[in-house]
This record gives sequence, C-alpha cells and structure tokens, in this order.
Amino acid sequence: TPRTSLPDAALTGLRSGFAGEVHAPGDPGYDEARTVFNSMIDRRPAVVAQCASEADVARALALARDRELEVAVRGGGHSVAGMALSEGGLVIDLRRMRGVSVDRDARSARVGGGAVMSDLDRATQPHSLATTGGRVSTTGVGGFTLGGGSGWLERKFGLACDNLLAADVVTADGGTVRASADENPELFWALHGGGGNFGVVTSLTLRLHDLPAMSMVMVLFRPENGPEAVRTYRDVMATAPDEAGGACIYITGPPEEWVPEALVGRLVCAALITFAGTEAEARDVAAPLLALDPEAAVIDTVPYADLQCMLDDPPGMRNYWSAEYLSGFPDEAVAAFCADAATMPVPTNTQHVLFPMGGAVARGPADYPLPWRSSPWAVHPFGVWESEADDERVRRWVRGVRATMMPWANGAVYLNFIGREGQERVMAGFGEDAYERLSRVKARFDPDNVFHLNHNVKPAVA
Ligand code: FAD
Repeated sequence: TPRTSLPDAALTGLRSGFAGEVHAPGDPGYDEARTVFNSMIDRRPAVVAQCASEADVARALALARDRELEVAVRGGGHSVAGMALSEGGLVIDLRRMRGVSVDRDARSARVGGGAVMSDLDRATQPHSLATTGGRVSTTGVGGFTLGGGSGWLERKFGLACDNLLAADVVTADGGTVRASADENPELFWALHGGGGNFGVVTSLTLRLHDLPAMSMVMVLFRPENGPEAVRTYRDVMATAPDEAGGACIYITGPPEEWVPEALVGRLVCAALITFAGTEAEARDVAAPLLALDPEAAVIDTVPYADLQCMLDDPPGMRNYWSAEYLSGFPDEAVAAFCADAATMPVPTNTQHVLFPMGGAVARGPADYPLPWRSSPWAVHPFGVWESEADDERVRRWVRGVRATMMPWANGAVYLNFIGREGQERVMAGFGEDAYERLSRVKARFDPDNVFHLNHNVKPAVA
C-alpha cells in the first residue's frame, strides 16, 4: 500500500501536456521508477515525474511548490544514500533526457542531464574522442560531474568538472539559466563540485579530448604478496606519466578465464594500470609490477568505452561506501591498508580500493570547492554485497578502514564517494571558504533550499 498519495486532480494536472511520463503509487511503472542502484534504499515518493524537457521540469517544480512536496532530483540513481529519492515527495527523474550530441570540430559533447556514462562514452568512441568519466558505465554523468568526477583519465585530462564548458539549469522558481565562464560565472563555479544544490541541470557541455588508443595492464597477486605489490604500485605511479591511471584493488577473485581457478572466490590483490596510449607504453610503465612474478597478468588494448564497463556490477546489490584522502602513503600506511584487506568480507562484490591521484587532477584550478584534489592518494572502501545478513559486517569493515587510514588522512573528502556522514564531512568536502562562497550562490539561486537532497549547502543569510 502506498504510504503517501496525491489527489487524482493533481496528478491529472501534471500529466496533461507533460512530454515525459508520470508514475504514482499503484501505476505499473512505479516500482521500477523508484528503484536506485543501492538496493537497500526503499523509498516511496508520491510521484516520480520522468521529465522529457525543461518545461516538464518546471511543471514538476510548480506542483511540488503548490503541494509542498519535498523535491528529489534523479540522474543515474547512484548516490549510495539514495539522494535521488524522496519519501512521500516528488522526484524529478531525468532518465528520459539522455541524449548526447558530439561536436567533433569543437571537441565537445552536449549531454542530457539524465545521461549515464555509457551514453556519453558510446557516443564519443567512434570519433576517438573521450573525456574523464566514472569507472562504471551506469553512473549518471550529471551527479558525477557536478560533484567533481574522478575516473581513469583524470591524471591526463583533469576531473570531469574541469572539462565542463557550460550547463543549462532549471532553478527552483522554474526559470532556466545558462552557466558558463561568461554567463552566470558564480553559478558556473559552484557547479564544479557543488553538486545538485543549485537547480536541475538539464544539459551539460563537456570538453572532449583525442584518445586514439587506450590500454590496460591488470596484474593479479595473492593476498600474502599484496604489500609488496601495493608498495611497487605506489612507486610506479609516483613517476608514471599522466597517461597512466588505475587503482590497486583487493577484490574477491571473479570467475573469469584470466583468474587462476585457485583464486576464484578468494581474496586477491589486483594492480591496474590504465594507459591513454598503446599497449607497449602501458607494459613499460607496468614493468616493475610484471617483474614481481604475479599469479596472472592481462595486457591489452581496449576501446575506452569497453574499459569503462570493466567494474560494472549487476543491479540489485546492497551498498555502503566511504573514503579518505591521504597526504602521503608511506610503507606503514601500505601495511595498514593491506591488513584491512584480510578482514574484507569475502566472497562479496566489495572492493578495497587505492586510487592514485596527481597529474592533471592536482594541477587543476585550486579555487573550485574540491579541496581533496591535491591529495596524492585516496582510499575508497566500497562495500557491495547481496545478503541482508552481511549488512553489519560490511558496514563495520568500511568504517574500520576509515579509522585505519586516519593517521595519513588529510580530512578533505570527495563527497561523491560517501553517503550521509554529517554536516562536518560536507564542510570537509568543500572546504570552509568555498562553502561560504557556495552558500552565497545558493542564496541567489535556491534561497528556500528546495534542492536539499544532496550534500547540502545552506543558503547564506543576507
Ligand atoms: P543520483 O543518485 O541520481 O544523483 C546524485 C546526486 O546528484 C543527487 O543529489 C542528485 O539530486 C544530484 N543530481 C544528479 N543529476 C543531477 C542533475 N542533472 N541536476 C542536478 N542534480 C543532479 N564517482 C566518481 O567520481 N568516480 C567513479 O569512478 C565512481 N564510480 C562509481 C561506481 C558506482 C558503482 C557507483 C554506485 C558510484 C560511483 N561513483 C563514482 C559515485 C558517483 O559519482 C556519485 O554517486 C554520483 O553522485 C552519482 O550521480 P548519479 O546521477 O548517478 O546519482
């Protein structure tokens, strides 16, 4: 039984002239419409407005205002805390606004606010163009980019938001504004990390880069050899060119042909070098890892859009993740990181991730509300599992990893990598001065904090 409902007249009013689709409790499409990536999230909005145009978004916002409904905005639905859904409120669901048009000459793409990574990557691939994207294909380009946007290509091309050229935004009052370096520059600045705080972004224009070849080296180790592998990986990345990215990840050995049978279903340490270039160049960079006598190694040229699917999980899994950004990663930190792998819940789809930063990430504009961008390393415990019985075990492990890394953590955190962890963490995600500046932009574009289902910035008081 629906816990909330809108009068029929209100729904009929919204539906008439609505280009997209409206789903209310009891409608056949309702349950699918309220499903997000994290299967632990079970919220029942009063209405899910699947908008197909800016006018639809404005109409949905008007209904929310009239009926005093809480507003959620859904892009790809990947927020681990389920920020794309409101219990009893109105969801502005952008999944029908997924178009991508590539301007080859201008080296840019205009992307609908509800597009997911694969929509973008598949559209740019035929032109041998790409831009920094998330590391799975189903993440929303919107939530990802507006929060910063970290991916395999970031050391070469910067964060996703560094490649944002313009955005169209429907604001809380239903009006449309454009943000770019020349138009509404303060709003444009705020969209580089400030997330969905300022309005519904119906389209993003992103800079594209030439990417004639993409390669990878994946080297697999038994957990007892993990510390040596992670130390080597650290040293490799310290001097690697910007073309090199990747991660060191403890995972449950997947049942795939390149994984030796003895390691399937067991804890393994995978060192991954992604390389914006040829296989030979990737192999060169990875040489010290290959020399460690690993259990398995895959060296390959991969179309970027395919590489982007490598970590995709099946839908319907339970999720809990967090992150810490480190100011350094000495041997003691490596040992601590690897010791936590030993207690990682296995077998599950959980990942214990170490990301190298640096390169174009660190060199990017320092004034964006992304204080973590100068950190050389990030640790991202990513709990993904199937059974409710494992809920407490995985959560405890994720929190434990944060505690372990504390001696090396610098306090700044990438908000897209965490759920709801309190306002202090939100502040740490933006930095205090940037937060003040964001709150002034917020006061101008969303003075009533209509858009608060996000890592929230409170409007400045005049
Ligand atoms: P949603 O839950 O739909 O939205 C997240 C937030 O953004 C909400 O507050 C929502 O209101 C807002 N929002 C979304 N779209 C819009 C829009 N068009 N206009 C206004 N507000 C909007 N992040 C990385 O940086 N790199 C990674 O490699 C990466 N990998 C991931 C892998 C997985 C499996 C998952 C689940 C997440 C990953 N993330 C990664 C995190 C991801 O970037 C964030 O969860 C991001 O917020 C997801 O955006 P979304 O649109 O999919 O999610």
